[in-house]
Amino acid sequence: MAKTAIDIEAMRALLEGYGPDLQFGTYLDDPPVPWDGAAVVKAAGQVCYASWGKARTANKDVQDYIDHLLESGHGSVLEHPNYSFLVWGISRSLTHELVRHRAGWAYSQLSQRYVSGKVLRFVERLEYQKDEKLHAMFEARIEKAAAEYEELAKILVAKQKEGEQILSAKAKTDLRKKVQQVARSILPNETETVIWITGNARSIRHVIEMRTSEGAETEFRELAFRLYLIMAQVEPVLFGDYRIVHFPDGTRGVKTRWRKV
Ligand SMILES: Cc1cc2nc3c(=O)[nH]c(=O)nc-3n(C[C@H](O)[C@H](O)[C@H](O)COP(=O)(O)OP(=O)(O)OC[C@H]3O[C@@H](n4cnc5c(N)ncnc54)[C@H](O)[C@@H]3O)c2cc1C
Repeated sequence: MAKTAIDIEAMRALLEGYGPDLQFGTYLDDPPVPWDGAAVVKAAGQVCYASWGKARTANKDVQDYIDHLLESGHGSVLEHPNYSFLVWGISRSLTHELVRHRAGWAYSQLSQRYVSGKVLRFVERLEYQKDEKLHAMFEARIEKAAAEYEELAKILVAKQKEGEQILSAKAKTDLRKKVQQVARSILPNETETVIWITGNARSIRHVIEMRTSEGAETEFRELAFRLYLIMAQVEPVLFGDYRIVHFPDGTRGVKTRWRKV
């Protein structure tokens, strides 16, 4: 949905402030790195050693530069570029695991308190989709859950109107919230959610590695694998070290020799 952009020209005033013998101005003559995230990481890394003169690594060698960072575990420069994803069609059980990743992540998730039953949807696991009986059980279960939610909400609204103290509130939205926060208690883990997530290149790498591993939960593994597919296209230099692996259960993951930079 969104990603960091670079304005490398904004460095000109800094570079031209040094003595002309250093030739730091030539830094901006390189043809630019075509991927903003990789460009940001390289530029931030080169600040550390004032690598702006003739002996610097040129932009055409950005892959070598990044590989060296990954290999030596200089991960903090990968924290500069950020990427946002809008994820839907996933279950609340998946997001419960997702939000355990704290470092370098931001989350904005659909509220079950402020949003009514009108947008209630459910996620059917692959294991159920493939089996007639399990599929039928899923359908019956979600019908029942949706109906029960509606019924509960109706009863609670009626009680609210009768003046039930614990359900009372001043503003209209607060009245709905008081009902929905109770009614949602019966919703299952397979209730769908929508979440906007933002991570930096380092934290995204960490989630891809942990959550595409063989021990990871399969719904999360699929999400992490898709994050990898997106990042491999958007930032091929920062995510180019991963190779795809196939697990015996038919799911896919990735491996790298440079884990947890
Ligand atoms: C296969 C699997 C099974 C799991 N099973 C369980 C389970 O049974 N129960 C359970 O509760 N959780 C479980 N988890 C969740 C797991 O324990 C982590 O909470 C979750 O994966 C977040 O990862 P992280 O700790 O690397 O945190 P992130 O927030 O992703 O942090 C990234 C890295 O930053 C560093 N860091 C972050 N915060 C701190 C801090 N406060 N102090 C020091 N360093 C920090 C660490 O090096 C950390 O690895 C499981 C995870 C997996 C992948």
